[in-house]
Amino acid sequence: TDPAQVIGRFAPSPTGPLHLGSLVAALGSWLMARRAGGQWLLRIDDLDGPRCRQEFEDDILRTLERFGLCWDGAVTRQRDNTVAYAGAFERLRELGAVYPCSCSRAEIARSASAPHPGEEILYPGTCRNGLPAGREPKAWRLCTTGVQIAFDDLRHGRIATALDRSGDFVVKRAEGFFAYQLAVVVDDHLSGVNQVVRGDDLLDSTPRQVWLHQLLGWPLPQYCHLPLVTAPDGGKLSKRDNTVSLADGGMAGKESELLIWALDFLGLAVPDALRGANCAELLNWAREAFVPDQMQQISASSFSAAA
Ligand code: GLU
Repeated sequence: TDPAQVIGRFAPSPTGPLHLGSLVAALGSWLMARRAGGQWLLRIDDLDGPRCRQEFEDDILRTLERFGLCWDGAVTRQRDNTVAYAGAFERLRELGAVYPCSCSRAEIARSASAPHPGEEILYPGTCRNGLPAGREPKAWRLCTTGVQIAFDDLRHGRIATALDRSGDFVVKRAEGFFAYQLAVVVDDHLSGVNQVVRGDDLLDSTPRQVWLHQLLGWPLPQYCHLPLVTAPDGGKLSKRDNTVSLADGGMAGKESELLIWALDFLGLAVPDALRGANCAELLNWAREAFVPDQMQQISASSFSAAA
């Protein structure tokens, strides 16, 4: 592939039907890639086996098709990529960047401090300098001590942080699965993805992923994190208002209305003349009208089913 070509992607987890936030992420990443004349890949993030279901995967693919959000090439799946994760993990071991940890969740919760309410519990580094005597290794963690991370996000600008604020994180779980943080970096690298557009819910993870890219010697993708969709009161959307799936939301026939809403969310006001247009016509218009820099201006906005 041409290194100058933009390769974006959408990477839903098949743990439920597509919701409004995922529609915004899908559309935002599609617009960014297509505006640049680039490719847009679709990957099913089915790493978390027990929570993933084939019916959700089918529903996601059908929903994207109904919106006219067509992807390039074959759909890829994380479950087909385990060998590559293992290779990257071995490389991290050779680098001495990871260490085995014997702590259970309960032990971590007891000994750790959560610096801010609601923040995830920080691993206190118990096994960083070796397993305590007589203990068996469970998960493998990446050492974050002293690591400073800086990267540019198209919407947030420069982000600089000390990685140990999020603690030494798991790259291989006790059950033997590789963790999302490692998998996503390997997947994106292997498929040549150089543009990652996704929701702000993943912004906390990005410094960890940046560090993994750096350790593995891989170039960083361009990042753009989009605001989350909230209910009009700023809270979480109800399940019913949040669905964009045909399966349980009765959304059939409302695709273009939802698409107009999502375009508006991303700063693209659809002209009146296009109000009755179908999804393909709307996307054709949007691909030309979209200006990547307008991502810098968008802020969180809410969705009201009544609107
Ligand atoms: N599969 C992840 C999710 O649905 C997104 C991964 C990503 O975009 O990096 O939350």
